Amino acid sequence: MNIAKELQTVAYLFASILFILSLSGLSSQSTAKRGVLYGIAGMVIAILATIFGEGVEGHMYIFVAISIASVIGYIAARKVEMTSMPQLVAILHSFVGLAAVLVGVGSFLDTTEFTSNAAHVIHLVEVYVGVFIGAVTFTGSIIAWGKLEGRISSKPWSFKGLQYLNLAVFLLIALIGIFFCSPLASNGVLLLGIMFALSCFLGISLVMAIGGGDMPVVVSMLNSYSGWAASAAGFMLGNDLLIVTGALVGSSGAILSIHMCEAMNRSFFSVIFASGSTSQKSGVRTAIEGEVTSIGHENVASNLMESNSIVIVPGYGMAVAKAQYPIYELAQFLRSKGKKVRFAIHPVAGRLPGHMNVLLAEANVPYDIVCDMEEINQDIAETDLVLVVGANDVVNPSAQDDPTSSIYGMPVIEAWRARQVVIMKRSMSVGYSGEDNPLFYKPNADMLYGDAKESVEKLNHFLKDKLV
Ligand code: NDP
Repeated sequence: MNIAKELQTVAYLFASILFILSLSGLSSQSTAKRGVLYGIAGMVIAILATIFGEGVEGHMYIFVAISIASVIGYIAARKVEMTSMPQLVAILHSFVGLAAVLVGVGSFLDTTEFTSNAAHVIHLVEVYVGVFIGAVTFTGSIIAWGKLEGRISSKPWSFKGLQYLNLAVFLLIALIGIFFCSPLASNGVLLLGIMFALSCFLGISLVMAIGGGDMPVVVSMLNSYSGWAASAAGFMLGNDLLIVTGALVGSSGAILSIHMCEAMNRSFFSVIFASGSTSQKSGVRTAIEGEVTSIGHENVASNLMESNSIVIVPGYGMAVAKAQYPIYELAQFLRSKGKKVRFAIHPVAGRLPGHMNVLLAEANVPYDIVCDMEEINQDIAETDLVLVVGANDVVNPSAQDDPTSSIYGMPVIEAWRARQVVIMKRSMSVGYSGEDNPLFYKPNADMLYGDAKESVEKLNHFLKDKLV
């Protein structure tokens, strides 16, 4: 082994360790920033070690490509709104998928001679699997982007026999694969092309069939697929670091998907294969009983002053309104008056795993007052006032008592069990799942209409200037 190769191996090992430290850092809010820094350092080392590694030519082109991509990445990251982050992540996953496809095709067209027939067959399997995973990730992520961006309806696209069609397409892909890897295959490019088209269809149909409520699992699952696609590219390129990094992303994404399924009380396989996940259940819909009542800002402010225990439930609307700063100001004020104030985070609130945690961390909300759903549900009945800030599906009681609801079975924050609930949103419109919310009709619930940020600012104004 020459010295350059040895140095590259050491650099790759070091980068792998940094990636593992990065993932473990990202598992907790207090260490997340450190985790990101480890990830950046690992990636810089990985890129430099690859570029200056043995047999790499055309450095000029590589630097031009990196410079252009860095400028695009920098502008996109600066410009993207926090609410559009999930879409950005989804579209970035599609790039990873496309990259794996291109690496696969390039690797197949490479005319390098193989030392043995077995090595050639292994290479063909790597190419085939890499292009397959890449294509599914590519189109699946584009559909996920469209659903999150609101360009494609979040309602599940389904028809009788869809699962059988998907299964048939999968089996056809496997059959073509066997032929592709056998010595009988004379037109590999054509077979690869057919498989690419079929895999693109599979990516589209799998994600199209998933309803709004189950999208969190899809987002993390596509994250996992992008990791496996990168890993497959690593095999094709003979790059150990890419194999390790891809496997880290792939397995952590899969673990996250399983956690999301547990949090939503869904079966992992039924979500992934869209078999009866959020598709509408049959049966007679339970009519919503009760009347919707609204409340004014001044009244909410005085109710807050009279309450001892307050729980704030943030949701996607808080992200849209960017209400996290004034809401923390409100919490600080109430805490300074001796009240117990806690934030309740539902695992799928917002549009990205950990979305609410990120927003609250951005506003410097201390971690010890940020609680998870189970913790809050335990003593929510003793809570005087629950303030729902732009959340809807995550506080929807239909998840517990309406078997016809598409979110039935999903654990929710049981806001209605508190003495009083105030829901801040702009209208009576539905949440991401498209389900009506009976919470709004409960006798102990009042709607505080308006943009969440403006509403919280008004509350702060009444609390600080009028009531004190
Ligand atoms: P929802 O999407 O259920 O509801 C958000 C509510 O916010 C809307 O009903 C909307 O009502 C309100 N809103 C929007 N803008 C504002 C504003 N400026 N001010 C005040 N309110 C506003 O959000 P939840 O967080 O409760 O639930 C998340 C949903 O998204 C779940 O169904 C989940 O499965 C899904 N999802 C989650 C992902 C994740 O990983 N976390 C990924 C993909 C989907 P109005 O228009 O009346 O104001």
